[in-house]
Order: sequence, then structure tokens, then C-alpha cells
Amino acid sequence: MKYVMVTGGVMSGLGKGLTTASLGKLLQARGLKVTAIKIDPYLNMDAGTMNPFEHGEIFVTEDGGEIDLDMGHYERFLDINLTKDHNITTGQVYYEVISKERRGEYLGRTVQIIPHVVDEIKRRIRGAALKSGADICMVEIGGTVGDMESMPFLEAARQMRLEEGPTNTLFIHVTLVPSSGPVGEQKTKPTQHSVKELRQLGISPDIIVCRSDTPLTTEARRKISLFCNVWENEVISAVDVENIYELPLVLERENLSSLVLQKLGLRSMDIDLGDWIEMVSRMANASKHVRVGLVGKYIRFTDTYLSIYEALRHAAAKNDVKLEVKWISAERLERTTEALLKELSECHGVIIPGGFGPRGAEGKILAIKWAREKLVPFLGLCFGFQLAVVEFSRNVAGLEGANSTEIDPFTPHPVIDLLPEQRGLKDLGGTMRLGAQEIVIEKGTKAFQIYQRERVYERHRHRYEVNPEYLPLLTGKNLLFSGKSPEGRRMEILELSDHPFFIATQFHPEFKSRPTRPSPIFDAFIKAALCQALRS
Ligand code: GLN
Repeated sequence: MKYVMVTGGVMSGLGKGLTTASLGKLLQARGLKVTAIKIDPYLNMDAGTMNPFEHGEIFVTEDGGEIDLDMGHYERFLDINLTKDHNITTGQVYYEVISKERRGEYLGRTVQIIPHVVDEIKRRIRGAALKSGADICMVEIGGTVGDMESMPFLEAARQMRLEEGPTNTLFIHVTLVPSSGPVGEQKTKPTQHSVKELRQLGISPDIIVCRSDTPLTTEARRKISLFCNVWENEVISAVDVENIYELPLVLERENLSSLVLQKLGLRSMDIDLGDWIEMVSRMANASKHVRVGLVGKYIRFTDTYLSIYEALRHAAAKNDVKLEVKWISAERLERTTEALLKELSECHGVIIPGGFGPRGAEGKILAIKWAREKLVPFLGLCFGFQLAVVEFSRNVAGLEGANSTEIDPFTPHPVIDLLPEQRGLKDLGGTMRLGAQEIVIEKGTKAFQIYQRERVYERHRHRYEVNPEYLPLLTGKNLLFSGKSPEGRRMEILELSDHPFFIATQFHPEFKSRPTRPSPIFDAFIKAALCQALRS
């Protein structure tokens, strides 16, 4: 097993995750089996209880892990499914060490950060890497070098270089090279300082990836080489890209993957990026235009809906469509309905994403009603599915005041209610219905047309569901639940027969969409939106 450790310097948000995913892609395109691990140095056990407004979307894996959004980049770039154990947090590490101490497994010794905490980190990295059967494991150490939280992880990485040997470990440091002054001179000092910080911890980066808004100048490259103790060809210029999927191509132009292979003592194999290059050029050269309205609560921070946005882009690329997303605030929709309905009317399709709690829910319901009545393509995801049921109950089935008990616990018609197994649960972390679950699709339905199969697995993250007591009052009026759990008790896909495209899912198809293999649901939605665009 070869480990490529990626650290970050200068500031957060430099795109370490994308750099990790992109290099992984390049190594994969050279015929190697690649996996990836994300280290998050926070004390939370996972990202599941974190506010999406601060941290962006919570990505869900097949096995129900609730993880930082970088995991989504890894899965999309590498086109692989990762598992919970590919995310390591300080919380998990300490939880394990303290539990072991309580069980008396340390046999009376004093339990310390070195060796016990660091050993547990190494055990987790090696465990996940070896289990994957990959040739190379990319390990992204979250946070910025110098943060107190990441120290034990950097120490673990340092020790791993010693234990695994220099040709089995490689350190890549991602930094920022800002431009400033009247002529926009590239400044290397922040990079120098962060490398110095890293070297104080006993780690000398082998390769430095520099983020900058213009290509790295010869002068800046020379300085970084001199002061940071790397050759000039080991200073990689990662200039800003418009489309994240271009990043592997940018890094390849800098010869990053052959450099990495050479340093890891691996034979250089020819690179095959054919499909990837085609996908990127489809995105750049799309000839048709579609505008999709996404009505959400967190639209000021679009990372909250990252996988949905990416899934839309994958489907758009496949259909020769240039995608424009209009982010519409559900709360503003409640307050200034007229103006925002006008905004909606400029869209060729509407998405209501997942969400929690009452804020903005009525605005989303307004948007659903609009899309249903105006016959505009509609896709509801999770909360969006539940609110589509609420809207239909109120406005078509005549169930006045119908609601989800998440929004109104005293509603006369609780058409959406807690999953029975959720009653009495006290802990919030990791307790939703999570991960891939089987869905049985009825033949002859739109859902069947979309998936072309009877059984699919899609990822879930919810506590509420359609209340089965209301099924007789809802179905039959052009509404059909075309996908259900295998025993038929849980409603998974909803469609309207008197509408060109009105589909909603209790699950999140966005998590399984890949750049060269879009999610069938998103593909169908973009096709419907394209028809709408051609009509209008
Ligand atoms: N809040 C809803 C539930 O818990 C929907 C969750 C979601 O959209 N992910 O069921």
C-alpha cells in the first residue's frame, strides 16, 4: 500500500479535497486502483449533526455514513463507493481510545496522545486502506497546518513515513500564492511560512501544489523551490479553474501524476483520460440552455446543495445542455410571493431539495403548487418529496391543514409522520434512516421508464415518511407511488400521471450521480426541462 498524504497551508477552503480527488483520478487513469480517506480534525463523531449553513452539505455514503462534502468529490472523481471508515474524526479516535481505557485494555498504563491516540489514528488509516484493496490510498488531512486540532493526525502521518518507508509515503502540501501590489506580484511568503510550520512538525513536503489566480510565474516557482526545499518541477501550479472537473487536466499538464509515480517507485503507465476529457468538453461546449430553479432555505451558501448541483451538471453535460441554476429563497418566496413566482416562471424546471424544520416550508409548498398547476417539470428530493405530498393533500385531496408533523405537530392531517422506529429516540447523531435501501419500482410507470429496472438502491437520510394511513385518501387522484420499500410499507417515489414531469423521491439520487454516469432521475429531469425550454 502506498499512501499519499495531502495537507493544507495558509488558509482553509483552498480546494485540498478537489486536489486530492483530482490526483486520485490521474493515478486511476494510469491504471492504479485508488481509494481515499478524509480526516476531519473536529470532535464530532461525524458531520451528521453539523449545520449545513456552516459546513456545506452532509454527504451520505452507501453504508449510511454522514460525511463532509469532500467525500462526494472523491466518489464523483474516482467513480467508486466509499464507506464510513474512510472518514476519520478526532471524535471517533478519542471515543475509541477512551472506551478502551474504560474496558481496561491499556493494562494500567497512562493513556496519552502519543502513543495511544496517534496509534489509533494509524490503525484506522491502515485498516480502511488495506480493506479497500487499493494500490494507492489518498489521505486528506483536513484543517490548516498549525491548527491545534490537526497535530495528532500530522504526527501520525510523520510516523507512517518512518514505518512504511519513503517510497510508500508521499507528502503533498497545498498552499495559496496570492497576488498583490500594483503589478499583481505573486507572493510566496505565506507558502514559505506554512512549509516551515510543517517542517517543525517533522514533515517535509515532497510536492507543493500552489493555488493562484494566474499561472505560477517562473520567479515564484524558483523562490518556493529554494525556500521550501523542493525541486522546481515539484512545485505545481494549480491555477483557478472555472469547472472543477478541469482540475485533473490542469494538474496533468504540470506532470503531477508521473512525478508522483516516480517518487513512489511505481512504473509509469500511459494515462487514459479519454472519457473525462470528453465530459469536460461537453460541459464547455453545450449548445442548449436550461434554467433550473432550486428553492431552498440555505441558498446564500450553495455548498449546502453541492451534490444536487453536481448531479444537475452531470445530466446537463450528457444532454448537451448549458445549465443555469437560479437559487430561490424559500423564505423570501413566502414574503414576496408575486415577485418570486415571476422568477420561477423564468425557470424550465423546479427542484425542492432536502431540508429540515418549518422555516421556509410554506414557500416550498407554494413553488410545488405552482409547478404542478403550470405543468412545469418538478423534482422533489426527500423533504421536497414530503412537501409534495403535503401540497397534494391540501390542494387536490382536500385535506385542509394537512402537514408533516415535523412542521406542525398538531396538524389535523399528519400525512407525513415520524418513522415508527424513530419514536422514543433520544440521540440525534447517526439515528436517521440512512444509506442505501432497496426500492421496488412498479412496471409501466414513469419511474420504471427512468430506471429501466424493478429494483434499485438509493441513499436515504430521513426521520419522517408518508403516513400509510392516508394512502387511500391520496392515491387514485392521478397520484401514484411508483416506488416502494420491498415490503410495500414505505413510499419512495411519487409521480403524477396528468403532468409532463412531476417526480419526487424520499431518497437522495444526487449522491449516486457521477460525471460520466449521471443519475437516471436527474437525466430525466434535465430532458424534461429541456423540452420545457424548447416549448417556451
Ligand atoms: N426533515 C425530513 C426528514 O427528516 C427530510 C430530511 C431530508 O430532506 N434529508 O424526514
